[in-house]
Amino acid sequence: MKQAELVVGDVYAFPTYKPYDDAPLVACVRVVSVDGNGKVTVRVVEPGAMPPKGAWGAQAVKRNEKLQVTTRSIVCPWDEWPVHAESIRAEQRAVQAKNAARRLEAEERHADRVLVDGARALPVRYRDELLDDHEYDGERDALAEAYITARKLGPYAKAEDVKGLLEDFPLLVARDIIAADPRDQGAPGTVGATFMRAARVLEAAQYPSETVLHPDDLLGESDVAFVEAVCGSIAAAGGEVVLPVVPPLPSWVDEEHRTVAGSLGWLRVAIGDTYSGQRVHAVGCRRVQSRPVSQADHKPWWLLMLESRDRLCGVCDGPGARDLKALASFVAAADVWRDREGGEIEPWQQVALLRLLAAASAARAVIAEPDITLATRITTALADNAPGELGWAAYALMRGAWGRRELQRFTPQEQESALALARDRLATAEASLPDSQRPIRLPQRADPDLVRQRYQNLKTLLEDTVPQLDRLLFTLPGAD
Ligand SMILES: [Zn+2]
Repeated sequence: MKQAELVVGDVYAFPTYKPYDDAPLVACVRVVSVDGNGKVTVRVVEPGAMPPKGAWGAQAVKRNEKLQVTTRSIVCPWDEWPVHAESIRAEQRAVQAKNAARRLEAEERHADRVLVDGARALPVRYRDELLDDHEYDGERDALAEAYITARKLGPYAKAEDVKGLLEDFPLLVARDIIAADPRDQGAPGTVGATFMRAARVLEAAQYPSETVLHPDDLLGESDVAFVEAVCGSIAAAGGEVVLPVVPPLPSWVDEEHRTVAGSLGWLRVAIGDTYSGQRVHAVGCRRVQSRPVSQADHKPWWLLMLESRDRLCGVCDGPGARDLKALASFVAAADVWRDREGGEIEPWQQVALLRLLAAASAARAVIAEPDITLATRITTALADNAPGELGWAAYALMRGAWGRRELQRFTPQEQESALALARDRLATAEASLPDSQRPIRLPQRADPDLVRQRYQNLKTLLEDTVPQLDRLLFTLPGAD
């Protein structure tokens, strides 16, 4: 109070202790004298409740004790104190309620970060701005446990093993993949729907040598669009992503395959070991005794697209995708992008594509495969000027006695053209061979026997390198 308001002989409330969560404890004091300089002398009439022992800022007083205090420390006349105290309490309660609400919200938000719920609506973005992407102790462990429970991995599954599987995902993305059921599409708009595919790939990634995931069944147009969107977003920022080289594929390759080849044909497929080499198998096919995926042979998906269907094993349906962990990240990013109907690419989505590229590149490095292989060159060279029906005549001509009946379908003039065609196509392929393997140029007037011999040589040379060389050379419209 102000000095001028104090009256000698009147009683006032003097605080002896100010707890942070309640009105102060007060003593009732009577003013004995006004001393000037902002001070008064008072005598304690009623000391009030004792402040807690050792409490900070507490001043215990005794009845009849005389003391000098500042006028400012006196709160109000004694009879006003009950009303005054109540208003202080009300104000404090309001502040506390607000703090409690804020704390609860933070706790809920925190708990939500590891709360697995397949019915959750797909978040508009995965960057958690409030928590600034920061991870807290135990969150990854909690998610690993949640994964073990959600996938029913049983009592022997260790959180440590599962953590590795989830480590490349942002925390909240990992949370929502766990929430998705790999075998049950959730309701549209939920994370259960968006991440079903990622959940499936992640499950396969846990047992890469036992699970075959065919890229044909897994990847499609929306993935191509996603790759283009990421490349576009990087280009918009002035950068560039250089995708591994995939040659143009001939028209007899499935249309779906040709659609995805340019963007994703570089994906690696793991191949089971065989003795005969008659058919291509997946690692883990029960018809072969293969090494585990990490040690097995592999090749780019586009090379598999060139294979004849007959070459794919009927039991395993042929090789499956190799780098499943990176692929799980990729499909998660692509599906979020698709379900958000495009829009901005978040950093983690860009990272997912780059990781898949890095996995393919690392895989190639292990088997010393260069950026451009002989198979790439031959396929590229033969993509142009692919022959039509006359290709059959050229093929029959190259087969000698075996093709004699087929050749009879064509007029002598067509047969003459077929020889020129065969010569041209062989010359095109031969031009892509390295110097050491390239024969001297076929003369314009080479006779059928010479051309046939060159054809046989090329077949032998490229037997293990280029699938379906005959179709690359001669198209063979209508062949299976
Ligand atoms: Zn097989």
